[in-house]
Amino acid sequence: MAGGTYDFIVLGGGHNGLVSSIYLARAGFKVALLEANDEFGGGTRSAEFHPGYTADLGAIVHFNIAKSPVFAKDELDLFSKYGMEYCRMDSVFCSIFEDDSYLTVSQDIDKFCNDIAKYSEKDAEAYKKFYKYIGEMAGVVAMGTGGGVPPYGVMINALSKSAAGMEFLRVLNSSAQQIVEEWFESEQLRVTLTRWATEMMIDPRMPGTSTILLLSTAIHNPAFPGALFPKGGSNEGFIKPLIRAAEDAGVDLFTNQFVDDIFVAGGEVKGCRTKAGDEFRCNNAIVSTICVKDVFDYLGEDAPEEDSHYVKLLRHADFVALNQVFALDVEPEFKAGPGVKNTFCIEFAPNEKDYLRTFSDYKLGGFKPNLPLITIPSIADKSRAPEGHAVLNLYSYAPWDLRGDSKNWQDPEQAEACKEAVWEFFKSRCTNLTDANIQGTWSKTPYEYSQWNPAFRKGDIGHIGLQQSQMYDFRPIPGKGHEFHGDIENLYFVGTCGHPGGSVSYSARGGIAKILDDYGIDIRDVVTKN
Ligand SMILES: Cc1cc2nc3c(=O)[nH]c(=O)nc-3n(C[C@H](O)[C@H](O)[C@H](O)COP(=O)(O)OP(=O)(O)OC[C@H]3O[C@@H](n4cnc5c(N)ncnc54)[C@H](O)[C@@H]3O)c2cc1C
Repeated sequence: MAGGTYDFIVLGGGHNGLVSSIYLARAGFKVALLEANDEFGGGTRSAEFHPGYTADLGAIVHFNIAKSPVFAKDELDLFSKYGMEYCRMDSVFCSIFEDDSYLTVSQDIDKFCNDIAKYSEKDAEAYKKFYKYIGEMAGVVAMGTGGGVPPYGVMINALSKSAAGMEFLRVLNSSAQQIVEEWFESEQLRVTLTRWATEMMIDPRMPGTSTILLLSTAIHNPAFPGALFPKGGSNEGFIKPLIRAAEDAGVDLFTNQFVDDIFVAGGEVKGCRTKAGDEFRCNNAIVSTICVKDVFDYLGEDAPEEDSHYVKLLRHADFVALNQVFALDVEPEFKAGPGVKNTFCIEFAPNEKDYLRTFSDYKLGGFKPNLPLITIPSIADKSRAPEGHAVLNLYSYAPWDLRGDSKNWQDPEQAEACKEAVWEFFKSRCTNLTDANIQGTWSKTPYEYSQWNPAFRKGDIGHIGLQQSQMYDFRPIPGKGHEFHGDIENLYFVGTCGHPGGSVSYSARGGIAKILDDYGIDIRDVVTKN
C-alpha cells in the first residue's frame, strides 16, 4: 500500500505537476506527486511506436516555453544537470494554400515581408506597421502570460490609464479574424496568421483569439529560439529530466494512483483517496494540475456552492484533436516544393471562406480532412528514424461530438474513415508517397485521447477551453484566478486550469510562486539561478 501524510500533494504527473513538485520540494516541503497513468508526462509523452521510429504522441512543439525562467534561466538546472535537450528549426510555421504556393513566417521580418509581397505589396508594408503596433502592446501581453495575474478590477484599471492599454483591451475583446481584417487584404496572410491562433482550439472568430496573434509576432524577435521540440522525443529530452530533478529534490513520485476522492473537513482539504484504495493526507494543501471539473466531481458535496456553479459553466475547447503518426521509409516530398521543409509546423490552409466554414462545421459535428498540421521531426532530429526514413505527424482538428455524438468516435468504421481521409489528403499534396511507404502507424481519436490522459476531459487537450471568459482572473473561477484557489483556500489550481492556461510552457510556475508566497517563501530563494 502507498499513501501517507505530506505537506503538499500534487495531482497529475504531466510537466506542470512535475515542475510544481520540484519547486515545492526544493522549498523544503514533503511532497507527493500522484499520477493516474503508469508513466509520467501527461500530454507530453513519446514512444518508439515502431522499431527504430520515435514520435511525440501529444504535444508537438514547445512554442511558449522559451519565456519561462525554467527554460530561459535554467532555474531548476534541467539543462545543466538533468539532461534536458531540445532540437530546433528556425521557422515555426508556414501555410500551404490550395494552389500549393506557400507562405513561411520567417524570423527575419524583412524576409517575411518580401514573401507577403508575393500576395500583396500593401500587406507587406502593413505588416511592418502591425509588428510595431504589436510591440507597443508587448509589455501588456506579457502581464497575461508570465507569472501571476492581478485581480480583474486592478488589471482593467491599470490598462485603462494608457492608450496602449486601452487598445490592448479592445484587441483582447476582438477575434483574431477581426484584427487581421482590420489590417490586411490578402487572404493568404490572414489565414496564415489566424491559422496559428487556432492552436488555442477556439474558432478564430471568437473574442480573445486575437491574443495568439500578439504572441506569435514574438517569432520576429532576434532572441526567439525558433521551433523547439525535445531531442529523442518528449520522454527522453523533456520528461525524464523533470523526473530526475523531482527525485533529486526528494519528491515521492507515484504512478497508477488515480485520485477519485478529495476529502474536506472544517472548510479545509485534508487529503485524497485513489482508485487503488490508498489515502494521502496533507498538512498544507493539494495542488491540482488535473482538470478542474474532475476535481469538483471528486469533492462531491464538499464542493463550495458558488465555485461549483462556475466550474459547471466552464466550457471546453471548440474542437479537439485527431492525431496520426507514421513511420515512413521515405521523407515526404511536397508538391509545394522542398522549401516548406525548412519549417517545423507545415499547415495546409484552404481558401478563407472554406477555412472559416470548417470551424462552423466542427460545432455541428462535421469533420474536414483538409486542414492538417504536419511535422516531420526526423528532419532535425536524426535519432527519431533510420537514415533516409521519416517520422510524420498528421495532426487534425476534429469535433468532439462527431456527427452529433462523441460515441461515433468509438465506431471503428467512422474513426478509420476520418483518419484515412487525412492520410489521402496529405498523400495527394505530396509527390512521392504511396501506402507502401508506411512501415508502421500510431493514432488516437479524440475519444482515445480522453482515455489516454484523463485530464483531457471530452478530448479537450487544454482541460478547459481558452475562451476569453475563462482567462486571466476568471480562470478557473471568476474573480479568483489571481489567488489560484477558490473558496477552499488550501486547494490550488495551477498550470493548465489556472492562469495563464494550457500549452507546454511551465504555466504552473506563476501559481507555485503564489503558493510559496502564501507560505512566506519567495520563489527566487528556492532556485539556483536568479
Ligand atoms: C495531439 C496533441 C498535440 C498537442 N500539441 C501541442 C503543441 O504542439 N504544443 C503545446 O504547447 N501543447 C500541445 N498539446 C497540449 C499539451 O499536451 C498540454 O498543454 C500539456 O500536456 C499540458 O501539461 P499539464 O502538465 O498541464 O497537463 P497534462 O499533460 O494534461 O497532465 C495531466 C496529468 O494528470 C494526470 N491525471 C488526470 N487526472 C488524474 C487523476 N484523477 N488522478 C491522478 N492523475 C490524473 C494525467 O494522467 C496526466 O498525466 C497537444 C496535445 C495533444 C493531445
